[in-house]
Amino acid sequence: MRIPDKYRQAAEAARGFMPPDEGLALYETAAEYAHVGPIAEIGTYCGKSTIYLAAGASEHGQLVVTVDHHRGSEEIQPGWEHHDAKLVDPGTGRMDSLPFFRAAVAGAGLEEHVIAVVGASKDVSRLWRCPIGMLFIDGGHSEEHVVCDYEGWAPWVAHGGALAFHDIFADPAEGGQAPYRVYRRALRSGAFKEVRVQGSLHVLQRTADGIG
Ligand code: SAH
Ligand code: MG
Repeated sequence: MRIPDKYRQAAEAARGFMPPDEGLALYETAAEYAHVGPIAEIGTYCGKSTIYLAAGASEHGQLVVTVDHHRGSEEIQPGWEHHDAKLVDPGTGRMDSLPFFRAAVAGAGLEEHVIAVVGASKDVSRLWRCPIGMLFIDGGHSEEHVVCDYEGWAPWVAHGGALAFHDIFADPAEGGQAPYRVYRRALRSGAFKEVRVQGSLHVLQRTADGIG
């Protein structure tokens, strides 16, 4: 499986936080698990990772549902290291990544494979009723948010489906520990086994029921 150049280029050109090697692993995982069911992404931002996922999904005529309130996480607000001033809506003074997401996905030619849900992950997860072929957790990185993402969404990962986490750092010097702790919890639960690691991207596969 090789990502078509047009999608790779569109993904690399999009704003976001997905290094090319991890993006390619995301694409390959999406292509591998799309036959199990639709792909859900928590943390859309400007659509960079969404393009990799949708490129993989498109090979099986599958959909990506991507969830974000588009108001930014704590660590990308004004004054923080990863803040991008272009994303501040001058009308409201608040961050809004939605127009950038929309332009990126349309420019990649992947609109028909992507459904954007604008809302808080926790609220959307309460309405969700559909088994998931691949879940990608890359939303808020605080303990509260990542625990909500796991508890609200991981129960929907189908048997044989994938659960992928981004920004997993065993060493606190490299990054925040909340995603790492939740990832360890998923492994400890006995419901998931690790099948792939690429940089800070860890992919697990469901082998038993529950989330621990
Ligand atoms: N996956 C993207 C990066 C996501 S950044 C990429 O690879 O480029 C994290 C995103 O999570 C931000 O856009 C932020 O708005 C969103 N987010 C943070 N907490 C959230 C929550 N509780 N509900 C929905 N979205 C959230
Ligand atoms: Mg990330």
